[in-house]
Amino acid sequence: IIDDILDFSKIEAGHLELELRQFNLWNCAEESLEILAEEASSKGIELICDLDYAGPTALIGDVTRLRQVLVNLVTNAIKFTQEGEIVLSVSSTVLGSAESGEELRYRTEFSVRDTGIGIPEDRLEGIFGSFTQADTSTTRKYGGTGLGLAICQRLVALMGGEMTLKSKIGEGSDFRFTIESEGLFSTEFHHQQKAPRSLSKKKVLLVHGNDSARRVITELAAHRFAV
Ligand code: ADP
Repeated sequence: IIDDILDFSKIEAGHLELELRQFNLWNCAEESLEILAEEASSKGIELICDLDYAGPTALIGDVTRLRQVLVNLVTNAIKFTQEGEIVLSVSSTVLGSAESGEELRYRTEFSVRDTGIGIPEDRLEGIFGSFTQADTSTTRKYGGTGLGLAICQRLVALMGGEMTLKSKIGEGSDFRFTIESEGLFSTEFHHQQKAPRSLSKKKVLLVHGNDSARRVITELAAHRFAV
């Protein structure tokens, strides 16, 4: 709570400065889920990472703050979901060439979708406000301060993006945000990710009870095994 209040007042005072450093986008997404994997698994919730293998592997920006937003959204998703799945998806589109030369500018979209309790329609608009919760029983049932989303929305705005939300009561929520930054498609990194040649042209039998997990693992296998 103290961290939240400090972050919030720093942002409101206009004193939060973002770092501009190259970071690995895939690792950032995977690490954000890894931190919360045990919590999700103890509730029996499927936690899925859906990456865009054709997109950039590295972006230039503030990885700590990006991870903070992702961890916050996934923590909420776990908190407000009793069963089903949480899918973190990352996809990028090219905006044009970057000023610095070799790199390209990308818009990267992140989505954290859950199959949880959802948010009532009349609360959607105000949910990013500070100290706002979906209903008065939330604090009693789930705890929290109502600052997390306010901080996320402001951090995303500082990163040149925008956060939106779609939610249906009883069906789940989908929090999305975009950031704009320079990025790098590293063929060397892609190469390191490939499975050994000896495994190419082999058949894979994939058995999984969850549709989203099956789709994501199929894409991952296609990416890793393509020579
Ligand atoms: P906190 O979680 O500390 O209450 P947040 O700002 O992170 O504060 O969230 C505000 C409110 O938005 C929550 O109290 C909850 O009512 C609602 N909310 C956030 N994420 C979700 C979600 N994934 N599913 C349902 N409700 C959510």
